[in-house]
Amino acid sequence: MYLDDDGRIDILSLTLEELTAEILKMNEKAFRAKQIYSWLHVKRVTDFSQMSDISAQLRDELGRKFCIKSLFIVKRLESKRDNTVKYLYRLSDGNHIETVLMEYEHGNTVCVSTQVGCKMGCRFCASTIAGYKRDLAPSEILSQIYTAERDSGRAIGGVVLMGIGEPLDNYDNVIRFLELLSSKEGMNMSLRHVSLSTCGLVPKIYELAKLKLGVTLSISLHASDNKSRSEIMPVNDRYDINELLTACREYFKQTGRRISFEYALINGHNDSYEDAKRLAKLLGDFVCHINIIPVNKIKERNFTSDRKSAQRFRGYLEQLGLNATVRRTLGADIDAACGQLRREYEI
Ligand code: SAH
Repeated sequence: MYLDDDGRIDILSLTLEELTAEILKMNEKAFRAKQIYSWLHVKRVTDFSQMSDISAQLRDELGRKFCIKSLFIVKRLESKRDNTVKYLYRLSDGNHIETVLMEYEHGNTVCVSTQVGCKMGCRFCASTIAGYKRDLAPSEILSQIYTAERDSGRAIGGVVLMGIGEPLDNYDNVIRFLELLSSKEGMNMSLRHVSLSTCGLVPKIYELAKLKLGVTLSISLHASDNKSRSEIMPVNDRYDINELLTACREYFKQTGRRISFEYALINGHNDSYEDAKRLAKLLGDFVCHINIIPVNKIKERNFTSDRKSAQRFRGYLEQLGLNATVRRTLGADIDAACGQLRREYEI
């Protein structure tokens, strides 16, 4: 159970089955749970008083037993170039997280955070610098989408778990979030429209594979050999490239979903033709896609890259027969890459 400081249950984190069990305990009929679930996940009210087909007495009781966690928009930055919107939200305990709403030809996608901060310590990543505070509850991941949808008035058709935090380090809450997101009585999103990005927590990749959820797995690879990967990603000392790719093969075997490999290009570190050749050797027999991302500058580090070197590296990979694209840069004028905004507010 997810409780707030007053011992009330975080109702948005409950599945319909769990909510039904709670409502039955209150001597109410099961259909009430369905009504309430719909108020929360379809009409998206933020207060029990708005549930107009529920009696005032039951609404009072609900308010004593449950809380509806909501997010407060502290800052909203909208890109003038491509309609990307970046939100800085405050959570009920005063912590901050970031969410980005992106517009693609095929629809709107939201990039959500899964933790307040991150423990993984990737050297180029702003999210890790301000340190790890806590995991997000399922409701807090879901509310990022509901709040962005309500605020922007844009329908959201896809979700990427690529914001602040390592989703597989908050595994149970993320799985429950996916269950709520895809619930027929709720947002009803197909999990084929969801991508989960991980730095490579191998045992959790195997667990996720077994669930066969249809989620696209996105692997933050960023290097073609263990030495250079360990230099920028400490997680590589726990699970090296070989173990990671073995887990990815199993994920593909179990789910049939093509894997996406992220490769943040850093000038002078991982951008040579030799790197491309090693990458081709590693990934040559994979059903996969490689996404090259010119590394985003963060204030605290002097890693650099640009679209030109990313295009050159893509050319190398193509020559070697690999399927790669350079990721479109969205929201460049509002610093839409994650982690920066939260830092300013946490210190
Ligand atoms: N923890 C997860 C998801 C969050 S990060 C993961 O590691 O995959 C989302 C993506 O942004 C990851 O691929 C991450 O490596 C990348 N990233 C982080 N900082 C970056 C930066 N400064 N430039 C480019 N990509 C970055």
